[in-house]
Amino acid sequence: MKSKRKRTAAVLYNKPTSITTASDLSHQENLAKKEGDDHGSGELVLVAPPIASSYNDRIRPVLDAVDKLRNLAVMEEGVQLPTIVVVGDQSSGKSSVIESLAGINLPRGQGICTRVPLIMRLQNHSSPLPELFLEYDKKVVRTDEEHVSQAINKATQVIAGPGKKISKTPLTLVVKKKGIPDLTMVDLPGITRVPVHGQPENIYDQIKDIIMEYIKPEESIIINVLSATVDFPTCESIRMSQSVDKTGERTLAVVTKSDKSPEGLKEKVTADDVHIGLGYVCVRNRVGNESYEDARVAEAKLFESHPLLSKIDKSIVGIPVLAQKLMEIQARSIARNLTDIVKKINDKLSHNISEFKTLPKAMSSMAESMSSFMRVIGQVKESLRKILLRGEFDEYPNDKKMHCKARLVEILNDFFCDLKECPQSNPTRDFLMDEIKYLEEAKEISLPNFFSRTIFLSILQEKVNGISSIPTDFVETLWSYIEEVVMTVLMSHVQNYYQLQLSAKRAGLNLIEKMKENSMKWVSEVVEMEKLTDYTCNPEFEIEYKKLMAQKDAFMRNVYSCNSMNIEGLGLVDLVNPSKSPHLLPQAFDLRMKMVAYWNIVLTRFVDSMALHLQLSVHKLVNDHLERELVAQMMAPDGNGLEKMMDESPLVATKRAKLDGSINKLKECKEILAKIMDRTATTSCGE
Ligand code: GDP
Ligand code: MG
Repeated sequence: MKSKRKRTAAVLYNKPTSITTASDLSHQENLAKKEGDDHGSGELVLVAPPIASSYNDRIRPVLDAVDKLRNLAVMEEGVQLPTIVVVGDQSSGKSSVIESLAGINLPRGQGICTRVPLIMRLQNHSSPLPELFLEYDKKVVRTDEEHVSQAINKATQVIAGPGKKISKTPLTLVVKKKGIPDLTMVDLPGITRVPVHGQPENIYDQIKDIIMEYIKPEESIIINVLSATVDFPTCESIRMSQSVDKTGERTLAVVTKSDKSPEGLKEKVTADDVHIGLGYVCVRNRVGNESYEDARVAEAKLFESHPLLSKIDKSIVGIPVLAQKLMEIQARSIARNLTDIVKKINDKLSHNISEFKTLPKAMSSMAESMSSFMRVIGQVKESLRKILLRGEFDEYPNDKKMHCKARLVEILNDFFCDLKECPQSNPTRDFLMDEIKYLEEAKEISLPNFFSRTIFLSILQEKVNGISSIPTDFVETLWSYIEEVVMTVLMSHVQNYYQLQLSAKRAGLNLIEKMKENSMKWVSEVVEMEKLTDYTCNPEFEIEYKKLMAQKDAFMRNVYSCNSMNIEGLGLVDLVNPSKSPHLLPQAFDLRMKMVAYWNIVLTRFVDSMALHLQLSVHKLVNDHLERELVAQMMAPDGNGLEKMMDESPLVATKRAKLDGSINKLKECKEILAKIMDRTATTSCGE
């Protein structure tokens, strides 16, 4: 481990001052020389800052863990990971910077090259042979330095399609190479204002959306790549990073092409017109077909000997300095965010697990379907018994509609009021007019002062006909209320059984319709009965009738002298013109009083019988009919049989699969993090 650590340091942290003397050494020689330096000799001064020396042992496993989480796409679960994001205007040199850090060749050139987010996982490893992999489309493709450009282009074509289109689906490139920094960064498509041929009109918005998605999270570190040849405040990428990181505390600027535009560079980075919190690093990337090693040597030479560039502080120039800074920033960012990530993953996991539990259980056998069906029926019956029969509403404490007993009494009271307040129930209306009309038409050869019962029945029939719509309306109101209640209860119990919903709905509606018809039949029979016979054994009738008839003499006295009189039990009545049929007046008065006394009996009988009928109907519905109808619907030839109950609703199936996937993923993440936390704990204990 120790030698590996030193070797990493050897390539990355050699001091530019010393390397100038070794500029003509080939890379292999360089390495050999550096390895020799492990024993303390040679011109190269190898400095491994403390953070770098402990870096591989301490941070690398954590970085690996974070990378694993990234590979599992934990960000799709809403858990943000610390990410170094490289942004910059088109051709500012983003890919070149990454290339310099990785020591490989990436596709570059004029026009748009980076068309998908490229996640670069750089890993230092001990073997002198580099290993490169591309991960995309659920595949891992091995490649090498010579072919990496082509491989990336090919993968980009698979992800984003041919041509110049872009996509937000990332591509991962793993580079394991001796001497490179352990860093994970994302290279994003460059910002273009004007679409080139073959690009969609909204290319700017598309790219902006991708960039924003990556740089928005607080956990992201933004590397803003700026070309020394441009005026920094005019850079689009500066505007974008400033929009999400106002103070610049998570933005680092990398100034490329220092070689092309050395004039005023020192002043530009010192002035810091664009508020870069994490500072500037000026670099010179590979130019043309230069080798990676030659480029580093040329860079070192440039900043050492160029009359202007050599004046820039050495702590902010060169790729090795950038690598070192990035590793420090990355380590800090991960350390800062790790506990939070663990917490977020745990929270998300328990949330998903509890959501998963609320999903209906998938049924796999007839026995299971059967027992679920029976259970649903049992639950529905119990709920309905509670609210409709027993008046307990603990299941619906705040839903007044479901407090059925009280609501039913109200419906019944309304019915009684409607009956009492209709014109037919007004005892003073058209006082004695109908009575005289009927008496006149019933003249016959007989003793005076007798009237036949037929007259009373005729008046009664006319009155009952007049109110017959009130009981029918009542039946309508009553059943539409019961329907609402029954369907609410029914649907709430079958909501987890997609296939049962249809049958239950049909059963509920069918049954209510049948029961309503039955009530209609009953109510019209009650109306018919009232029309056919005038009978009561209720003593109230006799008492009331006698009380009213006691006022007959007074009436006969007043009828010729007054226009109106107050009759107790009726109120103020208009007195008819007595001259018309004076001899019929006593009989007419008798008829009216009998009717007034009897009409009260008729109305209460309507309400009483409807109340009892209602109770019986609801009883039958809850205890017997509903279950029978549900079973009948379920077993009907065209119904959804019990087997079908096992079919899950597509909606639930999708949700189940999604939650299942997400739970597994989060569990895996949790394990990865648990391991790393254990390790961190043991390491610090061992120290
Ligand atoms: P990207 O579009 O931001 O990824 O930019 P590229 O990395 O593809 O670079 C665009 C062009 O600038 C390429 O031709 C590079 O060779 C060139 N370039 C990048 N960095 C430097 C540098 O430091 N010096 C010089 N001279 N050219 C550079
Ligand atoms: Mg690029």
